[in-house]
Formats: sequence, C-alpha cells, structure tokens
Amino acid sequence: MVVKDAELPYLRRCVELAAEALEAGDEPFGSVLVGADGEVLAEDHNRVASGDRTRHPEFELARWSAAHMSPEARAAATVYTSGEHCPMCAAAHAWVGLGRIVYVASSEQLTQWLDQLGVPAPPVRALPVREVAPGVTVAGPVPELAEEVHALHRRFHQA
Ligand SMILES: [Zn+2]
Repeated sequence: MVVKDAELPYLRRCVELAAEALEAGDEPFGSVLVGADGEVLAEDHNRVASGDRTRHPEFELARWSAAHMSPEARAAATVYTSGEHCPMCAAAHAWVGLGRIVYVASSEQLTQWLDQLGVPAPPVRALPVREVAPGVTVAGPVPELAEEVHALHRRFHQA
C-alpha cells in the first residue's frame, strides 16, 4: 500500500519525536498513533536510556491502545513511525489488533546504517514486520524523509 501525501505530516511528526529523543540522550525513534478519522491519539519516542531496553515508542502505543481504545477503533487506526517496528513491537502491535503501519525507514535500512556506523548487532534480529505479523498492512520506506532519519542515527552513534 502506498503512502499518501496527506500522511506525510504524521511521518514528519515521527521524525520530530525521534529528534526529541536524540536531544534527550536517547536513540532517535518516534511514533504516532492516528485514529480512523485522522486524529492523533497518542505519540511517544524511544526511552531506552532509562535502562529499560523495551521502552520503544511502538510498544508504548500498542499498550496505550489496548488500555484506551475498542478493538474496532484499534483495527481502524494507523501507527506512523520513524523506523519500522522491531519484532517485539510488531508482535505487540499484532497482539492488540492495531491496523496499518507506515514507517519512514525500513529495518533493512536501519540495519545497514548501524552496521556502517560500527554499532554492534542488537540481541534481537531486525525482521521485517511482514515476517513477524503477516496480517498487518505495512507501507514504507518513505525516501523523502529517510535521509533525515539516517542523519539522526549518525548523530546519535557518532556523538
Ligand atoms: Zn521496537
């Protein structure tokens, strides 16, 4: 499924949130949960600098949606994110029954970037969402924003 121009503001907000995470000393990832009517319901950025490596924004949004939305509203919602969900977050997304995912940078791109920066491989393999949660509709990457996300990761890992 293609990313529509009307969706770019949500993705830009994800990049902003990723930049906020970076400013706060955290890895640059940001995500936005949008209802079927286009309203932004919740947003978050990475908080793994707390010491809890599971504090990914997509995981927070999945749990938020389970606490605050009906199953129907979750299924009709979209999660926009600066980087494709990792397997943990893709699983949480699918378990709570959220709808579509739109990401700026793919896990494949991120893996390449981090490898080029000499970052050690993560403890969890960066599988694409479709391999973890085959029922979830996924769109991305978005080339016009991917370089901004790449730059944030360069800043984080070269700091
Ligand atoms: Zn994750």
